[in-house]
Formats: sequence, structure tokens, C-alpha cells
Amino acid sequence: MLGLMQDRQLLVSGLIEHAARYHPDVEIVSRTCEGPIVRTNWAEVRSRSARLANALLRMGIRPGDRVATLAWNTHRHLELYFAVSGIGAVLHTVNPRLFPEQIDYILNHAESRVLFFDMTFAALVTDLRPRLGKVERTVAMTDEARLPDAPDGTIAYEALIEGEPDELVWPQFDERSASSLCYTSGTTGNPKGVLYSHRSTVLHSFTACAADGLRLSAADSVLLVVPLFHVNAWGVPYASAMCGAKLVLPGPHLDGRSLFDLAVAETCNFSLGVPTVWLGFFKHIDETPGLDLSRLKLERVVIGGSAAPRAIIERFRRDFGVFVIHAWGMSETSPLATIGNLLPKHRGLSEEEQVNVQVRQGRAICGVELRIRGENGEPLPHDGSQAGDLLVRGPWVASGYFKGEGGDVLDAEGWFATGDVAKIDADGYVQLTDRSKDVIKSGGEWISSIDLENAAVAHPDVAEAAVIGVHHPKWQERPLMIVVPKSGKTPGRDELMAFLSARVAKWWLPDDIVFAEELPHTATGKLQKTKLRERYGSHALPG
Ligand code: ADP
Repeated sequence: MLGLMQDRQLLVSGLIEHAARYHPDVEIVSRTCEGPIVRTNWAEVRSRSARLANALLRMGIRPGDRVATLAWNTHRHLELYFAVSGIGAVLHTVNPRLFPEQIDYILNHAESRVLFFDMTFAALVTDLRPRLGKVERTVAMTDEARLPDAPDGTIAYEALIEGEPDELVWPQFDERSASSLCYTSGTTGNPKGVLYSHRSTVLHSFTACAADGLRLSAADSVLLVVPLFHVNAWGVPYASAMCGAKLVLPGPHLDGRSLFDLAVAETCNFSLGVPTVWLGFFKHIDETPGLDLSRLKLERVVIGGSAAPRAIIERFRRDFGVFVIHAWGMSETSPLATIGNLLPKHRGLSEEEQVNVQVRQGRAICGVELRIRGENGEPLPHDGSQAGDLLVRGPWVASGYFKGEGGDVLDAEGWFATGDVAKIDADGYVQLTDRSKDVIKSGGEWISSIDLENAAVAHPDVAEAAVIGVHHPKWQERPLMIVVPKSGKTPGRDELMAFLSARVAKWWLPDDIVFAEELPHTATGKLQKTKLRERYGSHALPG
């Protein structure tokens, strides 16, 4: 027997309509590529999105068509989020930090019909334009007066929406329709498209607003550091419309000083970003004597995309009273999958013990199911000690890639293999120990490269560390550590070994440590271990 509830579809347009009706005056503050700060609000985002939607309809954009962006976090990019998906088209956010060949590949693969771009990327778009056969229109996200040197036929965003009415009844359609498209970074092979639906996007937003999720609410002023091109800025634009949070968008300025100043000026209490961003934030604080730190009102900071280093969690806590919410996910999980909040039983613990909980990646949020499996596919217990391949299932987890790339990605029971290796403890806290291809197999046992890296960056002279497996005649593989010292510091090999031996099992200690000036990273700030293996894979281990 079916229930007797209304079958209203969960659509992205419903979010912006709600925001405009119930939170019309809540501000959206945006630094622009042109320079000035622009202040709008949810009512205006709705009205300008509707005008943009009307312009897109007039251009002939139909449901399912892809509309691409190469852009920073600004009010215009936010408007595109609601305008494009609102009319049933698919917002395709392209990461401008990828190599031009990858951008070229992604835009062609997605067959995007229109490309919106920030002025910063005008030269890149001019270069790429002859190769973008499917792109019919290019739109520079600025006004007519500031139109940059851009490919012929480029129009200005403001000119495009000028004169368009803001009356629009958003179409109603199947909530399973595609709403947005993000390509995975593709450390191996070509990037693959993850195609989100309206339903997955709205369900994911409820999670971000849940008290044991990100607790996003109308009380929050959000410094949105994570880019709108990085897995939909972790779903926060949609969730903010749902709950009426204030959004503060940093535009192209993601350096420590700009972020600090914006957080202070807009009394931001909540922020989100990958670890690297916070290193820059602290560097600015350390190198700027006389900063009035009491003006910083941050309370919660979400860190994900890579493991949140203990030192960052501790510093936020100690110096600013900020609780770091450590979260794990991937493009294929929309991305929120596990979120690191404390349980009531942790309240009485010491600071250090609480941080021990925070350094793990958190617990599955309702809707996300997790499993770990051993090398032969056998289910492993959630006992906090056995590490295995992490599998995930849920209504905002990918069931395949755009255009069927990569073939079937689910097993017979609908599980998606994340490519991560993790332990899960009895309370459900996940602890990532590796990417499956990065795990170090020493004499049949697994050594976690992430645990070793975390131990190394706890050393005061270490800026960054990476560990890879290097061939060993007896043990098959042994760990090699590559360390980037903090500027002006020269930590010694033996001293570091002694430091590590107090923190990890003896047989985990790297067989050698080498020093480097920098490490290779992907466009989303992850260590590129393939590059490190190419460079150091044949390093001769001592003894
Ligand atoms: P992107 O590179 O665009 O961030 P991916 O989907 O390629 O997106 O990245 C997902 C991967 O990032 C995860 O599978 C995991 O390996 C890593 N990751 C994400 N969050 C964390 C975290 N909190 N700790 C450790 N690794 C993480």
C-alpha cells in the first residue's frame, strides 16, 4: 500500500524560492574579479537567477543541456547555480586549476553549449576557443564596460540579463533529472563526470543543515572558501538557500590575508576549506604582528578533501576556540559522507582525547551506508583496528559516470568502491589510512602512509610530508618519507626518526627520509603520489 503523501518533486528551484520568500534580506557578500565587494541578498539572487534563466531559455537552452562555468566564488556564479538547474539544464562547473588539456577534454566531453567565465580566465578561454566545437556562446561574468579581451562573440553577463524579466515560474519535472556535473580530478586516466540530480542535491542539503551534520542555519555567516567548482562547494550554496545562511564569497582572493580580512569584516562564524587554505591563513596570522585576533569570530570550520592535520585542529581550538569538523567525501558522494562531530560521551574528555576523535574522519550521516572489506572481499568488523577497502551506498552516491565512462561502478549489492582504505570503530568513526593504490605492503602487512605523514607534520620544523612505498628485496615494499621543511628550518634525518619513533610502531618507521623544496599537488590540493613514485620509486634504501 502506498502512503498518501503529496508527490512534490525535490527541485533546486524550490530552494531558491524558499530563500527568497523566508530569508529575502539575508546578505550575500561577494568579492568580485573586478575588485569591489558586491552586496546582494537571497531575494536578489532569486530575481537575478530568474532573469538569467529567462536569458538562457531565450538562447534555446533546453532541459538536459550543459552550461559550463570557469569561475571563482562570486554572486554571479551563485546565480548560475540556481538559474541553470532551475530550468532543468545542467550546471557544469569546471576546475580552472586543471591543465588546459584537461579543461579542453572536459568541456568537449560534457558537450557544454554555453561557457560562462570570469575575467581571470579570458586568455585561457581565448586559447581554448578554437578547440571547443560544442560551445556556442561564451559569456564573460562582468558588465559591458569591463568586457575583457575575449573570443569573438563573447557577451557580458550583465548585458545578457539586462532587460530580462524576473518573473518566471520554474518548470516542474522529475526530481531524478540531472542538476549539475563535476569531473573528478582524475589522477589516473581521463577525468570522469559525476552527474548529480535534483533529488540528491536537495537530500544532501538537508544533511548539511542537520544538527549532527554541518549544523548550517540562519544563524550562520559562512565564509565559503571551498570553490564553487569543487564538488558544488560541498553542497553549501544549496544548503544555505535552504536554511537562509549568509554567504560570504571570496572571489579570486584565497590568500591568508584576504580570507582573514573578509572573515573579520563579515563576522563569519563558519567556514569550509581544504587543509592547504588554513595553512595560508595561519601563515598570515603568524607573519602579521599586531593583528587583533579577538575580531575573528569563527566558531566552526569544516575541513575535508584531504586529511585535516592534527596541528590545524589543535591550533584552531587552542588559539581561536574553533571546533574543526573533519569531514570525508568525494565527488562521487556529493561530497558529504562522514562528518566528525563529538558524541555526548566525549564531552567529559580532555582536550587531547577530544582531538583524538576529531582527527578521524567522522561518522556516516543518515542516508550514507559504509562497509569495509578485506583483500578477498570479506566483510571486516567495525572494531577500529582492521583496515580494508571502504565501500559506500546511498541516495547521493554516484551509480555510474556520465556517458557510461568507467563501465559499471557498483557491485551486485549496489556498493561503490571509494578507492580509500579505512578503519571503522565501534562508534562508527571512520579513520582513513590510505588510498588503496597508495597503501604500503610490507611483508604482507599494511602500513598507513597517511598515519606516517600525520606523525611527521606534527614536528614543528616540518611543513609537509609524503610517504610512498619503495621496492624492498625482503619486505616487498618499505616506506620512504619525503619531507618539506618549514622555511628557514633544517630538521635532521635522525632527529625526525626519533620524533616518529615516539608516535608510530617501530616496523612502520620509514627506511629513509629525503628532503625536498616542495611536493606535487593535484588541482584540488591533494598530494600527487603517482608523480612522487615516478621520481623517488627507485630510491636506494639504506642497509
Ligand atoms: P577532489 O579531488 O575533487 O576533491 P575526489 O573525489 O577526487 O575529489 O577526492 C576524494 C578523495 O579525497 C577521497 O576519496 C579521499 O581519498 C580524499 N579525502 C577527502 N576527504 C578526506 C579526509 N577528510 N581525509 C583524508 N582524505 C580525504
